[in-house]
Amino acid sequence: MLCPKCGKETRKGLCEECFLERNPIRMKDVELIICTTCNQFRYKGKWNSNLDRFMEGIIRDNLVHHHDIEIKEIDFKAEENRNRLELDIDITGEYAGERFKTKLKSSIKPDKSQCKDCSRRSSGYYEAILQFRIKKTPTDKDVDPRYVAKAEKVRGGYDFYITSLKHAKQIAANYSKNGYKTGQSPMHAGVRDGKDFYRFSISIKEPQ
Ligand SMILES: [Zn+2]
Ligand SMILES: [Zn+2]
Repeated sequence: MLCPKCGKETRKGLCEECFLERNPIRMKDVELIICTTCNQFRYKGKWNSNLDRFMEGIIRDNLVHHHDIEIKEIDFKAEENRNRLELDIDITGEYAGERFKTKLKSSIKPDKSQCKDCSRRSSGYYEAILQFRIKKTPTDKDVDPRYVAKAEKVRGGYDFYITSLKHAKQIAANYSKNGYKTGQSPMHAGVRDGKDFYRFSISIKEPQ
């Protein structure tokens, strides 16, 4: 059978080239927010770090194509240009049992904003105080600075004001795993949206 448009040998109606020309693959507008402070990004309501690692999935998610086309592989280059991410995408796909390769240029314009952690930190908001009463001074490796609203040297150690209770508990759990003694107690911190609001102080002490 010959392609009715270009005369190329084909198995079904239009050849893959002519079919793609008539039904081009394109990319939807992608909504992405990038935190101006820590570079985390928000996609589909979730904050994540390391956009590079997620980029292929985001591209796949947003490709629009005729249902007779199957997308197989994607290879891409992303380049930042002014406030845009320019994408050069190589697509390998299948149409009517034939493999094809095609190229697509697209771009994403991320909105710049602050993520929850950074806006909390810059406003001084905190949910927990980690009370380190241990010999070793905590470092950035022990406590991710993105979650630290404030750190103070106090008698016997350090107090770290942490913007996320969940994260503070994780840190304490790590210390606990390494044999340190941890304990937590809630402190009533007022009423918010009609509900009692608690902060937690979590102590980390030398093993006994
Ligand atoms: Zn053709
Ligand atoms: Zn941030």
